[in-house]
Amino acid sequence: MMRAAADQMIRTFSGNTSGLCRRLEGKVAIVTASTQGIGFSIAKRLAEEGAKVMISSRKEANVNSAVQKLLNEGLQASGVVCHVANKEDRKRLLDETKAKFGGLDILVSNAAVNPAVGPVLDCSEDVWDKIFDINVKSTYLLMKEARPLLKQGKSPSIIIISSIAGYQPFGLLGVYSISKTALIALCKATYEDLAGDGIRVNCIAPGVIKTKFSQAMYQSESIEETTKSKIPMGRLGLPDEMGGIAAFLASDDASYITGETIVASGGMPSRL
Ligand code: NAP
Repeated sequence: MMRAAADQMIRTFSGNTSGLCRRLEGKVAIVTASTQGIGFSIAKRLAEEGAKVMISSRKEANVNSAVQKLLNEGLQASGVVCHVANKEDRKRLLDETKAKFGGLDILVSNAAVNPAVGPVLDCSEDVWDKIFDINVKSTYLLMKEARPLLKQGKSPSIIIISSIAGYQPFGLLGVYSISKTALIALCKATYEDLAGDGIRVNCIAPGVIKTKFSQAMYQSESIEETTKSKIPMGRLGLPDEMGGIAAFLASDDASYITGETIVASGGMPSRL
């Protein structure tokens, strides 16, 4: 796609959220890893649509600053430190959400790491364990631990952040890619049981989104051009473009959708 057309699309997505509907009024949301990037954009959008949002990540200073940004915009937010692989942290996240906001209706599992880059069969056991502990096991455990609270919620739902790499593994991010495929499988393996509790569960699979996490894919002009050349829409995505998808999935507009994945990749292919 011509650069001018791609730029026009970015302008069309203005980031202007005035006039948003308030589909999540009265709901309570937890977003993990929500102090920057995609998690922060999702938290902000859920709050803009009326939800009370619990911000969390590993570092207290990041939590405080993200909460303050939302409060400054007149949104309802609180924060708690939570390293998703830590059982006590996850318990405190759920306990404080209940104490502060009275329950839980929306759980967004967004935390993920990728500590190593290289050929998939060169990955050490430690790195494999870390990727699977944070990206997959922590999501699974948090879903289990949040289930009793969500069950009592208002049209409750879970949103898992997977990746386009879960469909088509990225060259040197093989094990990370496997973990993101596992999250799509986790969604598929749990939606029937959760439907019995009235809880929907869906995934979002972002393409290459401009955040700190993906900076290696746009760190120089030539690398960014190579990345863009693989994206049919000719540009990287923006974190705010993920927020509306999460708000839709958490809302009653998606009341008949469960066990599915919405791919937002600018056209990068998504076939398993
Ligand atoms: P990011 O901008 O680098 O933000 C990462 C966030 O995660 C920070 O708020 C960080 O805060 C927090 N965090 C890191 N480790 C954590 C842990 N163990 N427990 C709790 N919080 C933790 O990343 P991003 O690009 O938004 O990525 C968010 C999600 O989107 C990930 O699941 C990623 O796999 C997925 N994704 C990203 C892209 C992309 O191109 N960016 C594409 C597809 C999917 P602290 O440092 O304070 O903990």
